Amino acid sequence: MAVQYMYEKERKIPVKDKYDVIVCGGGPSGFVAAVASARCGVRTLLIERYGFPGGTATAGMMVEFGSIYDGKQVIVGGITHEFLHRLEKFGGAIMKDEKTHSMVFDPESMIMVSLEMLVESGCEIMFHTLACEPIVEENIVKGVITESKSGRQAIFGKVVIDTTGDGDIAARAGAKYQMGHRRENILQPVSLEIIVGNVDATKITPETYFQNKQLIARAKEKGEWTIPTERFFSWGRVLKRGQPQDPKNSFFFLNATNVLNINGCNVDDLTRAEIESRRQVDQLINFLRKYMRGFENCYLDRVACQVGIRETRRITGDYLLTGEDVLSARHFEDGVVPACSSIDVHDPEGKDFGHEYLKEGTHYEIPYRCFLPKEIEGILVGGRCISADYRALGSTRVMVVCMPIGEAIGTAAAIAVKEKCVPRKIPVQKLKFQLRDAGMSL
Ligand SMILES: Cc1cc2nc3c(=O)[nH]c(=O)nc-3n(C[C@H](O)[C@H](O)[C@H](O)COP(=O)(O)OP(=O)(O)OC[C@H]3O[C@@H](n4cnc5c(N)ncnc54)[C@H](O)[C@@H]3O)c2cc1C
Repeated sequence: MAVQYMYEKERKIPVKDKYDVIVCGGGPSGFVAAVASARCGVRTLLIERYGFPGGTATAGMMVEFGSIYDGKQVIVGGITHEFLHRLEKFGGAIMKDEKTHSMVFDPESMIMVSLEMLVESGCEIMFHTLACEPIVEENIVKGVITESKSGRQAIFGKVVIDTTGDGDIAARAGAKYQMGHRRENILQPVSLEIIVGNVDATKITPETYFQNKQLIARAKEKGEWTIPTERFFSWGRVLKRGQPQDPKNSFFFLNATNVLNINGCNVDDLTRAEIESRRQVDQLINFLRKYMRGFENCYLDRVACQVGIRETRRITGDYLLTGEDVLSARHFEDGVVPACSSIDVHDPEGKDFGHEYLKEGTHYEIPYRCFLPKEIEGILVGGRCISADYRALGSTRVMVVCMPIGEAIGTAAAIAVKEKCVPRKIPVQKLKFQLRDAGMSL
């Protein structure tokens, strides 16, 4: 049907409150941004559409943090470092390596620890609330309109942070963006994560980790595997908090479903992705039980509450971080976030995925300009939707990069409030010193 339009009736809505900083979206980047901003002593509100924080890490059950070690030193401190250690101490997280800090965690533990840190920071929270429209005057974002069970409400903020993953607020404020992989709108596939129970971990050897490719090929020949991937993307043991130590009865997460041609900013595509990935989950469970040693008697314990989206909008900022910047470990005068994650880009046709690594002992920096949408004031973007090309996104989308980005933009927003200026005008040296004092960067 050709698109038809109608006008929505103009309506009066209540102004709920006024804040210094409003953070839209409480995923890895947004939760840290809200904590950082509140810890700087400015009145901060976090708006999150679900009833808990963590975003793709918890709702999407992407339960694996990568390395913050560049091969010679740990490069990220601050709230990210504090959070990883608090998570391990809380229980429900396996620190795989003390040096790299890489970790597999139970999403419930992540929710508990991030919520504890949010509440402790004094940040206010609105769960079950969608930030749907920015309030824009001239080209300055002044707040957001929300939609929830309480209806539509307006909330004003001196600075608005967009950590929705998709850059919803910045895009609706008129920010330009890019979306796509090599060609416009060719996006990386989406995957629905699962956790299975009753796995006999004693039967799983280091070799098992490489066998799934051969087993998938065998199942494919028999028509028992139609998922468009040649191997599991990632999988591993999850230790839930307080779970008795019985390796014969373990939980494992699996990142092994794959739906192609999905635009995570299109509701019809998202619906199709949920239906198709659930079908794949059923096939995956049958595969595990029939082919995988240790998984013979496994059962489906939990499915993520939404498909995981690898890429959508990349908001065009004052600087576009490139794959070349990442791999050449480029540093910038306004570099505020250190990162060393490899570039991980999944093939849009589902063939495979590959990593491009930085040289050992090196890291790159993300300039502050990547968080400033071009030609729009009063707003910062963080996490997956920052200004980066599709290759750089392969590194910046990783959670241990999204979290320090959150700390940088939360701190920057607080500085803007205190200096009574828009984020674009803050003294970046002050931000760098403040992040260094907070132990975030070296
Ligand atoms: C299949 C898959 C596997 C991955 N594996 C790993 C991995 O192993 N390790 C790793 O580090 N990273 C991994 N990632 C990447 C990583 O999980 C995400 O890129 C990262 O979580 C992005 O963080 P974010 O805070 O920018 O956004 P998100 O995690 O997407 O958080 C955005 C938050 O905003 C909320 N939100 C969205 N829109 C609105 C709105 N309009 N109003 C209010 N709230 C809103 C969402 O509910 C969510 O809580 C994976 C991603 C996928 C999809």
